[in-house]
Amino acid sequence: MPHTFQGRLTIAFVAVIALTLILVTILVLNRLDDYFTSQQTADLEVRSETVGGYVQAVADRAAGSEPVVGADGTTNEAVVAAMQDPAQRRFIADRLGQADVIIQFGQAVSNGEATVFLPSANGEFRTDLQAGPATGQSREPTSVTQAYAGGPVWGRYVVDITLANPYTYRATALANLTGLLAAITLFALGLSVVVSAALARRFTTPLRQLTDASRGLAEGDLSRRVPTSARRSGSSEIAELAVQFNAMADRLEESVEIIRRDRDRSRDFLADVSHELRTPLAALRTFNQLLIESAGDDPEARAEFLESSAGQIERLDWLAQNLLELSKLDSGLVLLDLRPDDLRAAVESAAHQHDAAASRRGVALIVDLPDAPVRTRHDPPRIGQVVANLVGNAVKFTPRGGTVRVQVSATADGARIDVSDTGVGIDAAELPHIFERFYRGSRANEARGSGSGLGLAIARSIVEMHGGAIEVESGAGAGSRFSVRLPHDPREIAGTPASVRADVASAAEGWERIAAAAAAGEDAASEAPRQDNSANMTETSPSDASQMNTASAP
Ligand code: ADP
Repeated sequence: MPHTFQGRLTIAFVAVIALTLILVTILVLNRLDDYFTSQQTADLEVRSETVGGYVQAVADRAAGSEPVVGADGTTNEAVVAAMQDPAQRRFIADRLGQADVIIQFGQAVSNGEATVFLPSANGEFRTDLQAGPATGQSREPTSVTQAYAGGPVWGRYVVDITLANPYTYRATALANLTGLLAAITLFALGLSVVVSAALARRFTTPLRQLTDASRGLAEGDLSRRVPTSARRSGSSEIAELAVQFNAMADRLEESVEIIRRDRDRSRDFLADVSHELRTPLAALRTFNQLLIESAGDDPEARAEFLESSAGQIERLDWLAQNLLELSKLDSGLVLLDLRPDDLRAAVESAAHQHDAAASRRGVALIVDLPDAPVRTRHDPPRIGQVVANLVGNAVKFTPRGGTVRVQVSATADGARIDVSDTGVGIDAAELPHIFERFYRGSRANEARGSGSGLGLAIARSIVEMHGGAIEVESGAGAGSRFSVRLPHDPREIAGTPASVRADVASAAEGWERIAAAAAAGEDAASEAPRQDNSANMTETSPSDASQMNTASAP
C-alpha cells in the first residue's frame, strides 16, 4: 500500500473503476445467458412443432384407417415400422429437430381430476443427432418436451416430442463476449490508472506546494508562499487552505519584521543611551581628576569644577528620569488618570512655567486661550508635560525678538493645542525623524540650548496614550508649529491603550517602587525623594532651557 496521498488516491480510483467493470461484466454475462436460454427454448419449441406435425403426418399415413394408438394402448405396428425407418429417423433428428429426438406415442386419459398422458409401451422412439455441428456450434444440455394430440374422434392419440442437446452458438457467443469484455475491462483499467494518476497528481499538487511552502517557512524562508496557479488547480477546500496559509505567512513575516525592527531599534537605543551617559560621565571624571591633581588647592577653580560637576550630575539625573519615563510609557506601565477637566488650565499652567526663560531670552510667550472651557477627558499633569516640552523647545529654538504662541481650541471631535514659534525651524529632511528617541536636529546646536532628543518622543507617547495625534509643520528659518489633537474621550477611541493600562495599575505601582529604589541606589548622595509618576516633567527635569544649557556644558 503506497504511503503517499497521490498513490492512495490512484489506487482508490482504480479499485472503484475495476469493481464497477467487474460488476458490469458479471451482469452483462448473466443477462446474456438468460437471453440465450430463452432464445434457445423458443427455437426448440418451433422445431418441436415442426417435428410434431411431421411425426403425426407420418403416423397417420402409416396407420391408414387404423388408429395410431389402439384402445389397448399399443402403437400400430405400421407406425412403429415407419418410425424405425433409419432414413426417417435421420431426417427427423438431423434435419427437422437438429437435436436428439425422443418420440413417445400414447393416449390422453382422464382420471377424474385431470387428463394425464399414458405412454404406449411400444411407442417410444429415440434418435440421437448425428449431423456434425456448423462452425462455432456446440451441444447444449437443454431440452423441450411438448405434446401434440391427433387422430379422428374414434382414435385419438397423443405424441410427446422431446428435443434435447441441440447444437447452438451460445457457448461461442458467450466466450467471444467474455473475451471482448475482458479486453474492454483491461483497456478501461489501464486508462483509469493513467487518468486517475493524472487526476490525483492534479489534486495533490496544491497539497505538495503547501507542504513545500510550510517546509520553507519552517526552515526560515519567510517569503515562501503557495503559488496562485496551484490554488486554482486544486479543490476549493485546498484553495481556501492555501489562501489562509498565505495570509498566515504574511502575518508571520510581518510580525518577524516588526520584531526585527524592534530589536534593531532597541540596539540603537542602547547605543544612544550609552553614548548620552558617557559624555557627562567623561566630564565628571575629568573634573574629578583635575580636583585631585592640581585644581583642588585653588578655591576658585575648585568652586568652578564643583559647579560644573553638579550640572553634569543634574543632567545625568534628568537623563535617567527621562529614560525611565519613556521606558514606562513604552511598556504600558503608566496609568493615565483621565478626568473630564478644562484643558485650558493644564495648558496655561504648563506654558507659564516657561515665562521666566522666555523673558530671559527675549522671546514673547503668548498664551491664547478661548473664553469658553474646553472639556476633554485627559490626564492634566501628562498633558501639561507635553505642553511644557513643546513650549520649552519653542523657546529654546527661537532667537531673541521672536514669538512663541500657545493656542487651545475646541474641535468637532475634541480639542487642539497649537504651539507655534518664529524660530529657526526644521529642515524638511529632518521632520520625519524629530519624534525619534535621541534625535537631535542639525540646528539644535545653533539654538541656545541642547537636549537629549527624548522630549518629543515622550510627548508623542503621552498624546498617543490619549488616543490623539501630534503633528508638526515647519521649514528651515520659517518657524515651527506643533499641533496636538486630543479626542473628547480617549476611552471611546479604539486601540487606545489607556483602558488596558488600568488593568496593570498594580504592576505599575510595583514597577514604580523598583524604579525608585534603583534610582535611589544610583544617586546615593542625593536623598531627594523621586517624583510621583504623574508629576509634571517640569518638576522632575530641568525643562528650563537655560538650566539645560548649563547642564550640558562640560
Ligand atoms: P531635545 O531635548 O533635543 O529638544 P526633542 O525631542 O524635544 O529633543 O526635539 C528633537 C529635535 O527636534 C530637536 O533637537 C530639534 O532639532 C527639533 N525641534 C524640536 N522642537 C523644535 C522647534 N520648536 N523648533 C525647531 N526645532 C525643533
